[in-house]
Amino acid sequence: MPIRSIGAKLTLWYTSLLTLTFLLLGGMAYGLLAYSLARDMDAALTGVADVMAQKARMGSHDQRPSEIDELFRRFFGFSPLDRQADIYDPRGRRDPGPDGSNLPEIPLSPLAQKNAAQGLPTFETLPSTGRYPVRVLTRPVIKAGTVTNLVRVGMSLENMLKTRRRFLLIMAAMLPLGLLLAGGGGWLLAHRALRPVDRMTRTARQISARELDQRLQETGNDDELDRLAKTLNSMLDRLNATIDQMRQFSADASHELQTPLTILKGEMEVALRSPRSPAEYQHVLQSGLEEIDRINRLVEGLLLLARADAGVLRMDFQPVALNDLLQEVCEQMRTIADDRAIDLQSDSPAPVFIDGDREHLRRLLLNLIDNAIKYTPSGGSVKITLHPDKDGASLAVSDTGIGLSAAEQKQIFNRFHRSTETRARDVKGVGLGLDIVHSIVAAHGGRIHVESTPGQGSTFTVYLPTRPA
Ligand code: ADP
Repeated sequence: MPIRSIGAKLTLWYTSLLTLTFLLLGGMAYGLLAYSLARDMDAALTGVADVMAQKARMGSHDQRPSEIDELFRRFFGFSPLDRQADIYDPRGRRDPGPDGSNLPEIPLSPLAQKNAAQGLPTFETLPSTGRYPVRVLTRPVIKAGTVTNLVRVGMSLENMLKTRRRFLLIMAAMLPLGLLLAGGGGWLLAHRALRPVDRMTRTARQISARELDQRLQETGNDDELDRLAKTLNSMLDRLNATIDQMRQFSADASHELQTPLTILKGEMEVALRSPRSPAEYQHVLQSGLEEIDRINRLVEGLLLLARADAGVLRMDFQPVALNDLLQEVCEQMRTIADDRAIDLQSDSPAPVFIDGDREHLRRLLLNLIDNAIKYTPSGGSVKITLHPDKDGASLAVSDTGIGLSAAEQKQIFNRFHRSTETRARDVKGVGLGLDIVHSIVAAHGGRIHVESTPGQGSTFTVYLPTRPA
């Protein structure tokens, strides 16, 4: 079964690593212990053999047990029961003098004899009749260049093997205890470190679309969990803002749709209340058509924005002569401008070609020029200039209208936003035009910005690249 809790996983990892470290260090310590015990034993055997060889060289083969005990005590620190200290003649026969050995005799090995003949000492680990093997050193006694005798010193490995086994037993007893402590400690630590995560999970569970005001607790430590809480909180802030925007958008859209529908319904109800002349019916139908037009424009605009938001705005890119299109739109708007006594001029000295969606570009020009006319009092002027720019086209729509404050300039591209001045003057509109313009510019890979002085006029500048990336 897979482990789900991070705490359990961390503890498992921690304990496994610790076991591995323990085994590795334990193994190394055991190896070192075994090595140094063996070295000490060989050094002590050499010490005893050297003294015996020295005596033998001076002609004394008499090894009294008390002297040998004394020698072992000097080099080993104690005189064990299972020990050997004998002198042999060069042919390998044991000296018949008092026996220094507590062990049954182990014959000299051919290797030891061969080495001794060459003047070399030999260390061997030999099986004995007892429970433990014996470590023996055979060394020659050389007098005037000839091997006169062999000294053999041996010692049971009982002590050494018992020490090694004791070490292993202690390790084996410490391992489960250490692991228990490490595992318990690891679990407690992991549990403590992950407690804030549990708290975050509980809070996050309580946060719903309706209650997006709640935030995860930040500790201020700037550790990983604090940064996670901060990141999630800022994501919640953005979500909250988006949901607020969506709520506002639905409310505004319903309101904007409701107004023309109410007018339409009211006019028809009044018309139906009593018989009317054909001219009166015509008037009602005419007014109804205007409201339907308004609803149509609104729904079209909303649809375009919804598609742009979803990234599925259909674009039919083809070469467009922007100067010709501008000319057409200006002709279309001229009647409205003339009606309001506004001087509408366009200036596009050179042909400007870009790859774009003709209908969307027409809408862009219409919206900008319509706004410029709408927000300019009678007698004012609107001027549009178009010229090629670095790898694209630059279009500026300037008016001598009511202008916008710096604060308003930041908000006018927001959906349904209309300036206070505009609302006060009761100018027709719903606040979608510039948002649509912005979406069309973005779909062409361009940018738009506004410069304006309240009471003096505004200039909306659009930059469109020749070919969208
Ligand atoms: P609408 O014109 O339908 O209100 P827009 O999105 O086109 O919506 O414009 C948003 C707001 O920006 C307008 O309500 C108006 O306050 C302001 N605005 C747009 N164009 C101009 C302009 N040329 N001069 C002054 N204010 C403008």
